[in-house]
Amino acid sequence: MAEDVLDTKAHREDDEESLRPASFDEYVGQNDLKENLRIFVSAAKKRDESLDHVLLYGPPGLGKTTMAMIIAHEMGAGIKIVTAPAIDKTGDLVAILTSLSPGDVLFIDEIHRLNKVVEEVLYPAMEDYCVDVMIGKETPRSVRIDLPPFTLVGATTRAGDLSAPLRDRFGIVSKLDYYNDEDLTKIISRTSRVYDFAMDDDAKYELARRSRGTPRIANRLFRRVRDFAQFYDDDHISLARTQEALDRLKVDNLGLDDVDRRYLLGIINRYGGGPVGLDALAASIGEESVTLEDVYEPYLLQKGLVKRTHRGRIATQLAYDHFHITREFEE
Ligand code: ADP
Repeated sequence: MAEDVLDTKAHREDDEESLRPASFDEYVGQNDLKENLRIFVSAAKKRDESLDHVLLYGPPGLGKTTMAMIIAHEMGAGIKIVTAPAIDKTGDLVAILTSLSPGDVLFIDEIHRLNKVVEEVLYPAMEDYCVDVMIGKETPRSVRIDLPPFTLVGATTRAGDLSAPLRDRFGIVSKLDYYNDEDLTKIISRTSRVYDFAMDDDAKYELARRSRGTPRIANRLFRRVRDFAQFYDDDHISLARTQEALDRLKVDNLGLDDVDRRYLLGIINRYGGGPVGLDALAASIGEESVTLEDVYEPYLLQKGLVKRTHRGRIATQLAYDHFHITREFEE
C-alpha cells in the first residue's frame, strides 16, 4: 500500500504508527461501523469501483485515521493523508487531487476546518471526479480537469460544523464511540505484544478502565507505565505498578486527568455546581472552549458527570460524589 503522509498531527507520538492495526480483523470494537464497511468495501471491489465517500466523526484518538488506512489497505489502494488547515488555497487541493491514482483514498482530517473556497472545489471532485481551474493571466478561462475515481474519507470531531452541501456528498456517515473496557483491554494486549513487554491481565484491565475509552490514551499510558516498570527493573507490568504509575500521573480511577478535574471542580467551586456557560467556565480555568467541547466534554457527558442544559453546564450528583464534596444546596 502506498502511503503518503503529507501532514501528520503534531500531538502524535513518533511510534504511534507502529501500533496501528492494518486490517478490519485487527481493528478492535466499533463493530457496526466495521461490519458495514466490510460489506461496502467488498461490494465496491466486486463492481470494480472506488468506495463511496466516508465521513467519520467522534472525539480524537478513537481510530478515525486508522480506519481510513484500513479502508485503503482492504481496497488494495494507496492513501494520502492531509489535515484541512494545511490546505490553504484551492491550488493546494487541486494539486493533491490530481496526484491521486485511480481508487486511492484521500483522508482529510479536521475536515470541518476547510475554508469555504477550498471546500467548493471538493463538490465536483466528490460528485463527478473533476475540478474546474482558471488558467491564463491575461484572458483567464476555466478549464475542466478530470480526476481518477477516488474515495474521500473525512474525519471530524464536530460533524455539526460541516456545511450541508459537503455533508450530503458523503455516502457513508458514521460516528465512532468510546470503547468499552473489554475492547480497550484487547487493544492494550495487542500493544503489549507489539512492544514485546508483558503485562498482567488485571493490570491491563486497570489501565483500560482509566483510559477514557480512548485507544490513543490507552497506548500513551501503556508507554508511561512501561517506563515505570523499566525504571524499577521489572520484567513485566504488574497491577501494583500500573496503579502506582497512574496515580503518579494523576489519572484517577475514572480516567479523569487534570483538565477534567479543573473543569468539574470549576463548575462546583466557582459556579455553585452550575449552570455556567462554556465560555465563562473555559476562561475561568484557562482552557479553550473548543478544546473543552471537542475533547473533554464528550467523555464527561457520557460518564454522567456533567449535564448540558440551555442555561449552561451543570455538575451532576455523580461529580460531587466523585470528589467527595457535599452540596450546599440541593438541586
Ligand atoms: P483519530 O484519527 O480518531 O484521532 P487514530 O486513528 O489516530 O485516531 O488512533 C489513535 C491510535 O489508537 C492509533 O495509533 C492506533 O494504534 C490506536 N487505535 C485506534 N483505534 C483502534 C482500534 N480500533 N483497535 C486498535 N488500535 C486502535
